[in-house]
Amino acid sequence: MLFTTTPDDLLHWLRCTDATELEQLWAAADTVRRDNVGDEVHLRGLIEVSNHCVRSCTYCGIAKEHTELTRYRMTTEEVLAAANDALAMGYGTVVMQAGEDYGLTRTWVADVIRQIKARTGLAVTLSLGERPEADLAAWKEAGADRYLMRFETSNRELFSKIHADFGKRPSDRIAQLKRMRELGYEIGSGIMAGIPGQTFADLINDLETFRTLDLDMIGIGPYLPHPATPLGRDAVGIFADTTDQVPTGELITLKLVALTRLVCPRANIPSTTALATINKQNGRELGLQRGANIVMPNLTPVRYRALYEIYPSKACIDETAEQCHACLGGRIRSIGRIPGQGPGSAINRNVGASA
Ligand code: SAM
Repeated sequence: MLFTTTPDDLLHWLRCTDATELEQLWAAADTVRRDNVGDEVHLRGLIEVSNHCVRSCTYCGIAKEHTELTRYRMTTEEVLAAANDALAMGYGTVVMQAGEDYGLTRTWVADVIRQIKARTGLAVTLSLGERPEADLAAWKEAGADRYLMRFETSNRELFSKIHADFGKRPSDRIAQLKRMRELGYEIGSGIMAGIPGQTFADLINDLETFRTLDLDMIGIGPYLPHPATPLGRDAVGIFADTTDQVPTGELITLKLVALTRLVCPRANIPSTTALATINKQNGRELGLQRGANIVMPNLTPVRYRALYEIYPSKACIDETAEQCHACLGGRIRSIGRIPGQGPGSAINRNVGASA
């Protein structure tokens, strides 16, 4: 069956709730995934380096307004130990993620990148928020390979309602992603599905933005309300007038993963922890069977895990790196897939889609 991805087609699938019809979408996404990126599932070891954040994102549990939260920042030695774990477990990449934390200075991050590269040779992905260009350039120079920053929603008005500018610096994540690519980074981005105020038309624009940015990695997770955030406490009050609201949840996330695979056949697409959180039993596997080809086992020391609480009841919160590794390896093999070897870099230029 030939699948086209015109805006009307995308809208049809985004609204579709017929389980029998949806089987066609799942099968098409799985075929396009296999034909374009193969059966390997690449493993990106996630190190949640710090939960300090200067930003006030109204959806996020580690936003600076969450004053009850105990804050942490990993030491150089702790990050290097986690990178060694990644090497020992055969992962090709480490992802250093954090709130937007200027306590992680340009020099400190550059030094850690250099040490990871020298000791392990792993690919290094950064996900440290909207840092100034001089930081991004210094980290590229130090050896970082990729930068991951979701634009969250392509609806500018909605984005500015949920994601305040930082001081006088306007947040234009799409422009920043383009600049990162010019600096030589592979770029990853993505969205949350079901943000209060998000419409189906927004999702079609999001998919189109994935296509035009020609992203190397695209992460899609369900929006999960956090009770300590303004959006978690009062989404209805804030967005009372939204019509055509996208529901958050597993189905819309899986549909977006599948459609993203059709729109960007060669992208790296993770089966996200947020998806595994809303379906702890087999959310990860369903993501991998409906378009995804990446998982991100957590390497953060267990004593910090619960503190990186961007949303409640996060999956894998009390597992050690070894337990997470064994669990994900088992899940990958249980669906007939193979844990990937090497860095799993983008096989880029997502042109054309058929199934
Ligand atoms: N500070 C960096 C940034 O903003 O890109 C990286 C850390 S940020 C916590 C990582 C991602 O968590 C965000 O891009 C967002 O999509 C996701 N996230 C935050 N709060 C969430 C929520 N309540 N539900 C689902 N995902 C959420």
